[in-house]
Amino acid sequence: MKKLPTNHNNLLLSIVIPIHNEADVIPTLIDRLALVSRKLPVTTELLFVDDGSKDNSVALLLESRHRYPHIRVLRLSRNFGKEAAATAGLNHARGDAVILMDADLQDPPELIPQMVSEWRKGTDVVLMKRRSRAGESWLKRTTASLFYRLINRISDAPIPVDTGDFRLMSRRTIDALNQLPERNRYLKGMFAWVGMPTVTLEFDRDPRAAGHTKWNYFKLLQLAIEGITSFSIKPLRLALVLGIMSAGAGGLFGLLEVLKALFFGVSTPGYASMIAIITFLSGIQLLCVGILGEYVGRIYMEAKQRPVFIVADDSDENEKAYGSAITMKGVSNDQNH
Ligand code: UDP
Ligand code: MG
Repeated sequence: MKKLPTNHNNLLLSIVIPIHNEADVIPTLIDRLALVSRKLPVTTELLFVDDGSKDNSVALLLESRHRYPHIRVLRLSRNFGKEAAATAGLNHARGDAVILMDADLQDPPELIPQMVSEWRKGTDVVLMKRRSRAGESWLKRTTASLFYRLINRISDAPIPVDTGDFRLMSRRTIDALNQLPERNRYLKGMFAWVGMPTVTLEFDRDPRAAGHTKWNYFKLLQLAIEGITSFSIKPLRLALVLGIMSAGAGGLFGLLEVLKALFFGVSTPGYASMIAIITFLSGIQLLCVGILGEYVGRIYMEAKQRPVFIVADDSDENEKAYGSAITMKGVSNDQNH
């Protein structure tokens, strides 16, 4: 393990940043982080997790290690997705506190000193709440707000509205988080589940500094389904309730038809209403099978017990022969780094 230059109080802060094709922002990001970390009362480790970038992000990061020795680059074997990349970073961070932030400077590094000072006052989590969401469309803001309202209605540990992954967490919070074994990782929900004493700070979220977002509505929908199904089994109960309701309504309708036939003679055939009822009920059935499928799929993924990520390279572990040694690591065998 590489020795980092230490300061007087010997506390280490890890700043974890997942990177996926961020070559456009990396130079600015590193400059701003370097400027900020010089002012901090703690030593900092900048832990970049390269999530299978196809551009020259990794080369840029490694190059800047000559100027800033406290940069560490963890390279995943392929693109695993942001949640897995962040998980890898949180697993490997060595700090007494860890800050998780995006690479695109939407989370301003200049707020870090304030976060550190709140932590030094004794809190475990410093949560960054967005006051505004500059550069995000009306549609994105509305769907996000609807999603939070829905998920908080059905899940046990509410997720604070308008907070992202940008936050500081103490060592014991990180250790608790690293113990959660699930493969389907919905970090925001996991943070909320872990809990711990929390201080919330407000900030104005900047638009992306350069490059473009890797999210689209399909990916966001997937994340939303992930969020709901990994933290609540209420949709399964909804399926049950829908089944009971439609069976009840169907039974009542049948009874009415029989009574009508007894007292007023045979009623006229009604193909249209038949078709409407059949399609409605088969729709409900398919919906319920789908909901069930989501959970079965999750059980399947968990049952396979695969690690969440694979580390191909750690710049600190193979300093001399960078890239020659392949170390295979995952959550299952590399819990508390
Ligand atoms: N990211 C990642 N893997 C991916 C997609 C994104 O590690 O597959 C990183 C990305 O480099 C950035 C962070 O996750 O640091 C947030 O991504 P982005 O800014 O594209 O998301 P948004 O802010 O639009 O939600
Ligand atoms: Mg962003």
